[in-house]
Amino acid sequence: MTQDYKKELKPAYTMLTIMEEAGRCLLCYDAPCSKSCPAGTDPARFIRSVRFRNFKGAAETIRGNNALGAVCARVCPTENYCQLGCSRSGIDKPIDIGGIQRFVTDFEEKTGMKILEKGPATGKKVAIVGGGPAGLQAAASLLQKGYEVDIYEKNEKPGGFLRNGIPEYRLPNHIVDVEVERIAGLGAKFCCGTEVDGAKLEELKKDYDAVLVAVGIGEAQILDMFKDNPYACPGITFLAEVAKKGGEIDLPDNAVVIGGGDTAMDAATTLKILGVQNVTCVTRKELADFRASREELETARANNVTIIDGYAPVEVDGKEVKFKHRRLKSELEIEADLFVLAVGQKSSAGKLGLDTASFEDIHADGNVFVAGDIVQGDKTVVAAVQKGKDAAEAIDKFLGGK
Ligand SMILES: Cc1cc2nc3c(=O)[nH]c(=O)nc-3n(C[C@H](O)[C@H](O)[C@H](O)COP(=O)(O)OP(=O)(O)OC[C@H]3O[C@@H](n4cnc5c(N)ncnc54)[C@H](O)[C@@H]3O)c2cc1C
Ligand code: SF4
Repeated sequence: MTQDYKKELKPAYTMLTIMEEAGRCLLCYDAPCSKSCPAGTDPARFIRSVRFRNFKGAAETIRGNNALGAVCARVCPTENYCQLGCSRSGIDKPIDIGGIQRFVTDFEEKTGMKILEKGPATGKKVAIVGGGPAGLQAAASLLQKGYEVDIYEKNEKPGGFLRNGIPEYRLPNHIVDVEVERIAGLGAKFCCGTEVDGAKLEELKKDYDAVLVAVGIGEAQILDMFKDNPYACPGITFLAEVAKKGGEIDLPDNAVVIGGGDTAMDAATTLKILGVQNVTCVTRKELADFRASREELETARANNVTIIDGYAPVEVDGKEVKFKHRRLKSELEIEADLFVLAVGQKSSAGKLGLDTASFEDIHADGNVFVAGDIVQGDKTVVAAVQKGKDAAEAIDKFLGGK
């Protein structure tokens, strides 16, 4: 390993530099940043608190709205949300809202603040299937409303893609651990290593007042031409393996990543950080239409990933793949020891006998609700948080809450 895979790449603010960054904020009236968070967080409010060194108030604003505030501070594509309309952009550059949120939530952790509290008992209980961000947020919201919550998670630890997808150099495991412990502290019971199938779902429907399914879109997809190729591996399978082994994997000499989204960028940067000499990312989309966030793309480039845009694979023979340009008469042949295919994922809901297409409505059927990536809309952590909150509201209403 050339670089520490577990060390956060982005440096944290210090007490001095955070005051400088918060000092750049224009304290806008009717602030644009506060209107564009999918989870309804109010950055203008917590930045104002930071300006007055009221870090507890800032943490209360963040945490009261988002049980995964420390996670979102690190992984939220802020360039598409709160920072997009930041008034400061007209002067120089937008305020680093994610960075300020990270400072505040780190401060919250270091000083042992306890902001969220369990609500008075309703005597009703809810089962949540899937311990990813949607399930975790829904659990926090329901516990604050006084419900008993049991979370059924197929993996050894909860977190979903926060633990098995997003690499540690962007989101260290201990941050996920702290967020999970806080929710456990509210009374959530975790039943890990339990995969729920159709029969188990039927049991849960009878044993609980309501069931929330938040199983994500974790089924890997692979292009047909790579199906039996021993050198090919789906992007999420590769990243999950790296996460499981803490970066200690057998490394190829050359690797090609196929895809242009966040999973592709994460896989390519991870390979470079782990020490692979040549990493090429080939994407069907051209750079202008790239799906990956700008920050992810810049991180990949800063780590010397070669990015070739506009080419799609057309033929594969062992370690050799031929690509053709989508518009131009141009072909390309690349040889590699590993092909990482970051070409999309499928819903995991089919295994529970539910409709595998993405759900339009949070209330699926009877006492079953759905949340997270399996519901239509953005596939981001902050969107999963909002869908988790919406599902908790809908369950509360269904069970006769306020
Ligand atoms: C590589 C990668 C990088 C990403 N980077 C970012 C980023 O930088 N920023 C961002 O905002 N978003 C990012 N995302 C997207 C983000 O992680 C997802 O939108 C989010 O995790 C969805 O949350 P979820 O709770 O719906 O599903 P998941 O996170 O997928 O969690 C679902 C959980 O359900 C469990 N489960 C599945 N089936 C069963 C079953 N039958 N029984 C019991 N448990 C089950 C799974 O084990 C998992 O823990 C990234 C995704 C990937 C793959
Ligand atoms: S839009 Fe930008 S400058 Fe205005 S309050 Fe929000 S962070 Fe500050």
